[in-house]
Formats: sequence, structure tokens, C-alpha cells
Amino acid sequence: MIYLDNAATTKADESVVDSFVKVNQTLYFNPNSPHQAGLQAEKLLVQAKEEINRTLDLAHQYEIIFTSGATESNNMALKGIAYRKKETANEIITSVLEHPSVLEVMRYLEEKQGFELKYINVKEDGTIDIDHLKSLMSDKVGLVTCMYVNNVMGQIQPIQDIADILKDYPRAHFHVDGVQALGKIPMNFNGIDSLSLSGHKFNGLKGQGLLLIKNIQNIEPVIHGGGQEYGLRSGTVNLPMAISMVKAIKQAVQGTEETNRKLKLFNQAIVTFLKDFKGVYINSPENGAPHIINIGFPGVKGEVLVNAFSKHGVMVSTTSACSSKRGKLNEVLLAMGLSDSRIEGSIRISLGAQTSEADIQTFKDIFKMVYEEVKELLK
Ligand code: PMP
Repeated sequence: MIYLDNAATTKADESVVDSFVKVNQTLYFNPNSPHQAGLQAEKLLVQAKEEINRTLDLAHQYEIIFTSGATESNNMALKGIAYRKKETANEIITSVLEHPSVLEVMRYLEEKQGFELKYINVKEDGTIDIDHLKSLMSDKVGLVTCMYVNNVMGQIQPIQDIADILKDYPRAHFHVDGVQALGKIPMNFNGIDSLSLSGHKFNGLKGQGLLLIKNIQNIEPVIHGGGQEYGLRSGTVNLPMAISMVKAIKQAVQGTEETNRKLKLFNQAIVTFLKDFKGVYINSPENGAPHIINIGFPGVKGEVLVNAFSKHGVMVSTTSACSSKRGKLNEVLLAMGLSDSRIEGSIRISLGAQTSEADIQTFKDIFKMVYEEVKELLK
């Protein structure tokens, strides 16, 4: 099998799995227990958080909460911040490009909780319009959220430009979904108030996420119970998940430069190769994150292409795994102004740290076969 759906999830690294198993067997204690074993677990939990701050070069700026993934992190942060700001600054700004775990929270806050939601315009290259954001800002804005790298097209958002604008608006909390960025491109955390990450996107485990937050007192809990994790995530802390997450994040961060260099070469090789095929378009913008290449085949349905590749052992995705089962046109591609036929006929190839040169070669060979099968249909 050639696995080119790494933006959906990646294969867990063996050392991360080993660490998870080992800690489960040897350090299975509850960090909230008052006995010696519990205290040892608590110490390790604190150390894990310090290690993550150090790995990301954050000089202890953030409190860290281990979550079950970015969906939980996004929900916890966005609802928690919004609820606290409701009386003083009830406007929220986002873009239609966000992952459903952000966008659906936004819609819920607007429709069910009475917040005023505004969307930043999107430019043709899929990045947000910074001037439009400026025009939307005021002291009524309590929350701005934007993803670092888009999961469908790979465009990198101008996070530092947003942070610069928000400097003049101290009431506005800036939340970033960094899921598709970590381990793939160099990241700059300046001005980010909270950040969501997900281990399974960078060879960690499924169910392994992080929320990093600067002003933890600004978040209203959305999960209530025993008061663990600053009162924000009640429930017994999953120390094996936390410790193995440190391993995953270290490998991803320390390997970013090499992964980025390798995937840029693979990306260029694929883009150059595809130029020879009439009726096939690259939807992803140039200068995007190197691991995501969205390709349009107007006239053929994305699902047909995914199945055709799958039959030959190559796993790719339509738009994104999260929305591909819903059968409606992808909002990200719509926002970028792509024609309906190009959206319907789009697939996403996504690479990862474990993708090899041989995978790319096989992909090219299989692509030629699939192209022969569908070329009569291309518009
Ligand atoms: N944000 C982005 C940009 C994503 O790509 C994903 C995963 N598709 C998520 C959030 C959700 O992450 P998780 O699967 O860890 O809940």
C-alpha cells in the first residue's frame, strides 16, 4: 500500500507506542493521588509539560492541557474563551476556511449562544484578507481564530500579520489551530494566545492532543468534574498519553527542517509530473505547506478517483476525510473561487515524515494508469 493520506492521519511511530505501553505498565498511577506513587506521576506530568514548552522553544509561556485531540482542544478553547468574554466583547472573527472542529463551534456560538460572528474574506490563493480583518476589528471583538495551515489545500495563513493587528486590541484572544503545521513547516508562536495540536497528525497516537494557553484564567471550563488540569479538563489525567506525546512532539519538531526539505522536493516532483497531463489542475497554491497537494480533475468525481487509486493500492482522499462523506461541495474550495466541476473532481494527496521517494515513484506509475482510465471524462 502507498499511503498518501497523511493529512487525515499518520502511522504512529514505534517509539511513541512503546513509550505509551511502558508508562501504562510501570507508571500507571493517578497524578492526583496523594501517595508517593501519585506524587511521582504528578511530577512526571509537570515535567512533560515543561518539556513541551522547551521543545517548542516557548520559554514557559503556555500552560498545557493534554486532550483527546484537536477537536477537543478547539472546543475547549473556543467555547471557554467566548463564554468568559460574552458580557464585554461578544464579537468573534474567523474564516470559512476553518476545520469543522472550529467552524461548527463558531456556528453553535452564533446560533445557540448569541455571539456575533464575522468571517474574514478569503483571497484567491486561499489566504485570509488581512485588510478586511483590520476593518472588522474593534473593542467588541473578544476572539479571533484562524488555522495555521489549511487541511484541504495546504495554504499557510499569515499568522504573524494577524498577531500584529491584534496587538492594538487587548480584549481579543487569538486562537490558532496548528494541527497541519507542526512538524511540516517552521512555526512562529509570537502573539498566539492559545494553540491546538493533534498527535496523530505527526506520527503520535490517535486520541492524543494538546491545548496550549497563555492566560488560562480567561477560559471557562466546558467539562466539569473532579477539577483536574486547572479545573478545565476534569477526569483522571492520562499520563501515558502525556509522556508519549512528549516523544511524538520532540521527534516532529526536531525533524521539521529535514521533513520540510524532503517534502518540498516530493511536492515539486509531483507538481512537475502532473503538468504533462491535459485536463488535470493543481488546486493548491504555490508556497503552501509541502505535504498537501490538492488536484482537480474537472469532469470526474473525486470519489471515483479515490476509488480508482485505492484499487491500485494508493490511498488518497477527496478534499478532506472529515467532510468527504457529506457529499456537499467543499467550502474551502468554494471560498477560493474554484469552479464546481473542479471542486467535484478534486482529490488531496498528503505526504508525511514517513513518505519515501519510492512512494512518490509508485504514485506516479499508478497515476498514469488512473489517468488512462478517466481521461475520456476530463473536461
Ligand atoms: N484541525 C485541523 C486543521 C485538522 O486537519 C484536524 C484533523 N482533520 C483537526 C483539527 C481535528 O483533529 P483531531 O482529529 O485530533 O480531533
